[in-house]
Amino acid sequence: MPPVRGRFAPSPTGRLHLGNARSALLGWLQARALGGEFLLRIEDLDAARCRPAYVDLLERDLEWLGLTWDGVPLVQSERREVYEAALETLARTGQLYPCFCSRAEIARAVTAPHGASDEGPRYPGTCRPLSEAEVHARTSSRPPALRFAPAPGELSFADALAGPFSQDVAAEVGDFVVRRNDGVASYQLAVVVDDAASGITHVLRGEDLLASTPRQLALHRALGLPPPVYAHVPLVLGEDGKRLAKREGAFALAELRESGVAPERVVGLLAAWSGLTDGAPVRPGELVPGFSLARVRRTPARTSEEEIRMALGL
Ligand code: GLU
Repeated sequence: MPPVRGRFAPSPTGRLHLGNARSALLGWLQARALGGEFLLRIEDLDAARCRPAYVDLLERDLEWLGLTWDGVPLVQSERREVYEAALETLARTGQLYPCFCSRAEIARAVTAPHGASDEGPRYPGTCRPLSEAEVHARTSSRPPALRFAPAPGELSFADALAGPFSQDVAAEVGDFVVRRNDGVASYQLAVVVDDAASGITHVLRGEDLLASTPRQLALHRALGLPPPVYAHVPLVLGEDGKRLAKREGAFALAELRESGVAPERVVGLLAAWSGLTDGAPVRPGELVPGFSLARVRRTPARTSEEEIRMALGL
């Protein structure tokens, strides 16, 4: 059995909020309770949206909460060659092809405007039949993205929190981008390559990424890499039923830290949302004995700004 290794993989596009911290806490508890390591990875491939200042802040936030990580964080923007090597492996499977379509062209080409995924409508495969000569001719006017054509058929897995999940990626998502047309690896590719490179055995993250998992499993398979065990935690919802993460900028961890809130209170609140405690202030290490995913609540936690203020003494 490989050593247990979990990870937290934030994108430094803004300040961490309570929803992010909850995923980090649960991932940390899972790894520590199994006697494993916990790694930090900076997912900064989207250069237009990521800022180094946010990396600095999130590291301080995690330290403040007591969510320690092992080793030096992997930084995705520094790993271009590793992703290129994986793309070469994928190319050898014959499942990769260049795609010249713009978003607008794809939107015009499809009848159903919304696909099953965050990638927008199912890609109709427009560029799949292009000959080498056509690819060559078109590359001079527009650099292509690279798409991966998954094998047809259901991909099923047992999520440790969300339960059984199954998706026919080819039918529901279609061929998906693994390298953008600016040459940068896509999230789907990078996450698979990096989880494998770091020997990650347990991935715990927000439920918003559940539907990405079959795409990632398809890539693990094509690259011959062992997939981790996945656990997707239900989101935290505000009073209006909307995802808390989107609306509570006021509860950025950096702000709580700077305004003198005790980190134990924050951890207590996160533990209560997860159904682990009644919310009393606590340090992460105190939650390790007896922690198991079986104890984590599987339905979305509901909260309100007022409840958060009360819990944090604001
Ligand atoms: N970087 C992603 C995010 O911040 C998380 C990726 C993952 O956990 O697989 O949403």
